[in-house]
Amino acid sequence: MLDFQSATLREALSPLFSDEAPSGHIAIDDPSTGRVIAAVRPTDVGAIDEAIARAERAQRDWQKRTMRERAAFLMRVSRALGEASEDFAQLISLESGKPLREARDELEYSRSFFDYYAAIAGDERGAILPEERAGTFSSYRYGPIGVGAAITPWNFPLAMLARKLSPALLAGNSLLVKPAESTPLSAIALEAILREAGCPESLMINLLGDRESAARIGDALMRSTVVRKLSFTGSTAVGKSLLRASADTLKRVSLELGGNAPFLIFEDAALESAIDALLVAKFRNAGQTCVAAQRIYIHRSIYKRAVELLEAKVSALRLGPGLDKSSEVGPLIREAAREKVERHLADAIARGATLVSGGERAFDEGYFFEPTVIKDFADDALLTREESFGPLLAVRAFEHDDEAIAHANRTRSGLVAYAFTENLSRAHRLSESLDFGMVRLNTGHGSSAVSPFFGIKESGLGVEASKLGLLEWMAPKTTTIGGL
Ligand code: ADP
Repeated sequence: MLDFQSATLREALSPLFSDEAPSGHIAIDDPSTGRVIAAVRPTDVGAIDEAIARAERAQRDWQKRTMRERAAFLMRVSRALGEASEDFAQLISLESGKPLREARDELEYSRSFFDYYAAIAGDERGAILPEERAGTFSSYRYGPIGVGAAITPWNFPLAMLARKLSPALLAGNSLLVKPAESTPLSAIALEAILREAGCPESLMINLLGDRESAARIGDALMRSTVVRKLSFTGSTAVGKSLLRASADTLKRVSLELGGNAPFLIFEDAALESAIDALLVAKFRNAGQTCVAAQRIYIHRSIYKRAVELLEAKVSALRLGPGLDKSSEVGPLIREAAREKVERHLADAIARGATLVSGGERAFDEGYFFEPTVIKDFADDALLTREESFGPLLAVRAFEHDDEAIAHANRTRSGLVAYAFTENLSRAHRLSESLDFGMVRLNTGHGSSAVSPFFGIKESGLGVEASKLGLLEWMAPKTTTIGGL
């Protein structure tokens, strides 16, 4: 059990820690050991309509608060998160398995959304419209959408929720939250922090369920005529099924789905820094991010040197439990995730790829897999079509720019592409011709509260973060006054 410094978190979470889950409870395990660490009582699916009604009442009051009051609330949440930052980092690390320093980054990233949206409160004011008819006055302004639903994933248990919750609340909405079944503790902790910061009753409500009840919770939310918007981050298959289910009540839908990111290294790249960025883009959260580099294409003239560098640097990465301060790469979230990596590895090898380093399970307990490098993967390998979502780094050589771009774009996904080059015109050309919502040149980073996060093709619908992400939680209303 964690030794929380924050009294709020101690009170909300300590009763949940247990090494067994009574029947009817959701068992939360530690991916570093595979052992049960907490038991969470699921929400009664039959009571969801009642929760939706509470969220509706809370929303009506909340939208009457001034923008300034709502922004002040977000700032209090950010401050409270800052005060409990080490507790949160440990909690994120424990339930997701990610290394502690990545969990600290996630906490700061989460806070940045509350800070940013508080800072831009009131910027979207609408407009007074030019007179089109004599004696009339028209204007439009932005109001909230109403009651929203957020379904969030386990890979960033706090940040994905913060990215949805902060613009939703600023705009005057309330939010029903379905956290991932394997990582609900961060969401429970955030709900407690919100209360500490003075959050009105039922403005945010967690709906907790196991894998099996997730679909029923999703159905109840999608069927409701009160819930007006869904914001989902997760797998492409579930995103598509929720989109279908949302059609009957015509909800607004934002989806942030899979990535399958290409990573291109050209002959003029600063090779060491390209490789270091690649390690971040590949091994952060053990490869379990939607922006993880999935298919790596390296110019033939530097390929051998790049593979040597990768072999040296990847075998030096320290694998271990998230809470162990020396760990650089943690375990996978569950056994099925590890099996998927093994499937991708075996398939790539069967189609002619060569193992450079790693390739094995590690430790007797937990869901660890060694950071692994393979080279010369075939264009029809499974890993070119599906995300591995694990620590499997696959490289292949290319000869010409057009060939590299064609490889990169050969996917139904369109979230992010990375490219490294020191040539300015090539960089511009890449920015134009890579078919992705986000193009990251000479960096392995890029997500922030201020920059639009979005994918084209089958990577999603709608935008998160930035001013554009706030607009997704607002509805314009035009008012026309006649007879003047
Ligand atoms: P992963 O396979 O990586 O866990 P999912 O898309 O299954 O990704 O999970 C993302 C979120 O979607 C989680 O909160 C999960 O509980 C939820 N979820 C899974 N299946 C459904 C469903 N049928 N309806 C609604 N939510 C679901």
